[in-house]
Amino acid sequence: MEKYDVIVAGCGPCGAMAARAAAKAGAKVLAIDRRKELGAPVRCGEGIGLHWMEELGIKMNPKAVSAEINGSLLISPDWTRKVMIKNKETKGFVVDRKVFDKELAIEAGRCGADILVHSEIYDVIREGGKTCGVKALVDGKKQEFRAEAVIAADGGESTVARLAGLNTVASLYDTDFGVEYEMVNVECEDLIEVYFSNADAPRGYVWIFPKGKDVANVGVGIGGLHTPNAKYYLDKWIRAHPERLGKAKTVAIKGGIIPVGAPMTDEAVGEGIIAAGTAAHQVDPIHGGGICLAMEAGKMAGEVAAKNALAKTCDRAHLLEYAEIYKKVRAPKLMKRLKLRKVLEKLSDDDFNAVFAHLDDKDIDNLLKSNFAAVVGKMSRLLLNRPGLLKAMSALL
Ligand SMILES: Cc1cc2nc3c(=O)[nH]c(=O)nc-3n(C[C@H](O)[C@H](O)[C@H](O)COP(=O)(O)OP(=O)(O)OC[C@H]3O[C@@H](n4cnc5c(N)ncnc54)[C@H](O)[C@@H]3O)c2cc1C
Repeated sequence: MEKYDVIVAGCGPCGAMAARAAAKAGAKVLAIDRRKELGAPVRCGEGIGLHWMEELGIKMNPKAVSAEINGSLLISPDWTRKVMIKNKETKGFVVDRKVFDKELAIEAGRCGADILVHSEIYDVIREGGKTCGVKALVDGKKQEFRAEAVIAADGGESTVARLAGLNTVASLYDTDFGVEYEMVNVECEDLIEVYFSNADAPRGYVWIFPKGKDVANVGVGIGGLHTPNAKYYLDKWIRAHPERLGKAKTVAIKGGIIPVGAPMTDEAVGEGIIAAGTAAHQVDPIHGGGICLAMEAGKMAGEVAAKNALAKTCDRAHLLEYAEIYKKVRAPKLMKRLKLRKVLEKLSDDDFNAVFAHLDDKDIDNLLKSNFAAVVGKMSRLLLNRPGLLKAMSALL
């Protein structure tokens, strides 16, 4: 049985950042992932904001970049209004997760973390109510690894945190289902396209994220309570828009679940265990983006776990420092976004069209950034004429 200070379950963006941060802090770290090839199969739109890379101190490897993005184009349900947003937040990349995730793991390895791929964790080791290791199938053989602290960074279907006694189950209402085709013969500019419509994508949106001049990820996310399923909505949308995708051919199908409810904070911490990233629902509730939020949370979890592992203080009370940092730095912003999501999901396409028609590009940007105060004046006349919209929007104020 091998002994580590910190074990990281899962080596996606969250796990790799956690492993890297913990190793940098001087801990002996092991990251374990069930995938043979990190990042594959891809289950993601692969969009990433440039500002995040700067905030997280990550140098983007050009090999991981499929396309550079210089703005967002938001399209109203009736397609009469296209809002172009170009600012610091909408600059970014569509990456190749197969390269991006592996590069993050390479950095973790360079910092000294051990990494085991193609190794599935099937249980945790618990003693006296404290998680103190994991059991994994390594090359088909059962192996046990002990550690002062375990970080569950095993994504949306996280089982490791649950085995360790944390309740990471997201309700169906607070889960989105996403499906996406990688398609060729799609004319692309350096913009991500987002199509709003509760009829075409209930509680979600349709996206076209360019991966090159004529290749793009075309996807849809819908709320978990909507039927029949995301693939039905995506196929329907593609069929309905031959002017945009009539020549497009599918070369890959990707999909997955996205928890879009409240991010876990205190509940993500137990005796000897921290859940982070999508495993802890740390995802943007509106657009479902979670790569960089997972990286941020992984870094926080790795630093707190390493510090306490070295001091042999990995009880819940000490590990709660991670939740405190998260509550200070990120949770309030995500809760504000959750509030907005709950308003947007109530709007009819007619309401959406009216909002798009009434507000200019800057106002829409402010609204989607949850800067409600900046748009309330302009919205007032529209709201007075639309009592239903007023009722929905009043929740924001
Ligand atoms: C259709 C779709 C489109 C999306 N588009 C975007 C987007 O454009 N931009 C964006 O920012 N986000 C997007 N997301 C969300 C994003 O993919 C996730 O938020 C992000 O991958 C979270 O990173 P993570 O490290 O927390 O989890 P993951 O990336 O899921 O990594 C978890 C890792 O844990 C491993 N693992 C799981 N269980 C075990 C186990 N028992 N033992 C060992 N290893 C295990 C997995 O193999 C995996 O490598 C999308 C999601 C979906 C489903």
